[in-house]
Amino acid sequence: MAWDFSTEPEFQEQLDWVEQFCREEIEPFDLVFPAAVRSKDPKIRAMVKELQQQVKDRGLWALFLDEELGGPGFGQLKLALINEILGRYPAAPGFFGTAAPDTGNMELLAMYGTPEQKQRWLYPLMDQEIWSAYSMTEPQGGSDPNLFKTNAVRDGEEWVINGEKWFTSAGRYADILFVMTTSGMFVVPKDAPGVEFVEGGPRSHSHIRYNDVRIPLDHLLGPEDGAKVLAQRRLGGGRIHHAMRSIAQCKLAFDMMCERALSREAHGKVIAEHQMVQEAIADSYADINMLRLLVLWTAWTIDNSSTQQARTQIAACKYTCAKVLKDVSYRAIHIYGSLGTTDLTPLQAMWAGAPTMSVMDGVDEVHKVTVARNVLKDHRPHAGLWPTEYYPHKREAARKKFEALFAEDPELERYADGIAKYMANRNR
Ligand SMILES: Cc1cc2nc3c(=O)[nH]c(=O)nc-3n(C[C@H](O)[C@H](O)[C@H](O)COP(=O)(O)OP(=O)(O)OC[C@H]3O[C@@H](n4cnc5c(N)ncnc54)[C@H](O)[C@@H]3O)c2cc1C
Repeated sequence: MAWDFSTEPEFQEQLDWVEQFCREEIEPFDLVFPAAVRSKDPKIRAMVKELQQQVKDRGLWALFLDEELGGPGFGQLKLALINEILGRYPAAPGFFGTAAPDTGNMELLAMYGTPEQKQRWLYPLMDQEIWSAYSMTEPQGGSDPNLFKTNAVRDGEEWVINGEKWFTSAGRYADILFVMTTSGMFVVPKDAPGVEFVEGGPRSHSHIRYNDVRIPLDHLLGPEDGAKVLAQRRLGGGRIHHAMRSIAQCKLAFDMMCERALSREAHGKVIAEHQMVQEAIADSYADINMLRLLVLWTAWTIDNSSTQQARTQIAACKYTCAKVLKDVSYRAIHIYGSLGTTDLTPLQAMWAGAPTMSVMDGVDEVHKVTVARNVLKDHRPHAGLWPTEYYPHKREAARKKFEALFAEDPELERYADGIAKYMANRNR
């Protein structure tokens, strides 16, 4: 019997350490020194390094990478169990070397980079000596890569890139930009001449124009014309990691909801005793666990096959995590009453995070189409007018199975005929 929902004691010890470290070290540090991981202040950097060293000493640095690339090579299932702790603390991924968008970019370098490219960009990214951003979405359309226009043209020993991207998260803080073009995926140094940051766009998600940006030939990552394949590989991993972390957000909202329900009194009793509050708690409990099982099953599938083979499940995780986050954070806000509508707790940020989850990494609609299309491949239309589960036909076919028996036992046949007559008359 292979189904097993237990965690090995040695790994549980790691999970317990991660939970305690995040609660006792990362969260207080982040509340006092926000965005510290990217700070250039030497004192802050020293404190960050000290905390990161503890993570490294536990063998938990760059969790998503295989051993030969400097990660622990846990695979997706163990990563999911860790991420559902890290996701509760916004700063935690940075302290574990697993912060987006660098993770996806590192995965691209790990999968497609030449040894020189890994040396130049992957290892410095892993050590947080440099930062990166991913420049795919264009203002005229993000859900449909066929609308992208940014192109790269070869000119002697250089590629010349022209185009416009936006929603390049953390673009301003990046040293290198992974730019998707119609001719391939390129690594562009942010300070290359022709890289222009357009003012007035979204604050954290840069709007960038690439104006005749010239880069050497060895800045092409993967094959020429391979950008769509690279993008799919990158986003497939990213989506499941987001889903893992959103379980943590849902659990936080749930814990907050339960604590408040037990603490607040209204109309004669503690609100946890009002049935509609109990309904919110019961529905949230079931929603979170359904999401969690979907994500863990998907992670397990990736470990036992590939991201490509798990693509239908990954797509389902992508829109389900947004939906569960929306529903659970809404219920938690509601139970918190007026306090829930303020920024004095994490609930408003979680609630605002739900539509973001729905849009980023490809809008939910596109993923629902993927799921429906792939699922339908395993189904066939029925022959004729009536569906396979049409009872009159099923009963007729079933009766044939017993004809030999009825020939021997007319009493049994009369009994079956009586039932058939009764069933025929009670059809709605
Ligand atoms: C917080 C955040 C961070 C991001 N970070 C990055 C990043 O680092 N790098 C990067 O390149 N991009 C990034 N993005 C962009 C993201 O990938 C795009 O927003 C996403 O792909 C959707 O593109 P769009 O915003 O242009 O929406 P559109 O493509 O304009 O879609 C808008 C709406 O149209 C409808 N729609 C679209 N297609 C379909 C369809 N097939 N069927 C039915 N309805 C449809 C849906 O209602 C959809 O919500 C980020 C986005 C967010 C929100």
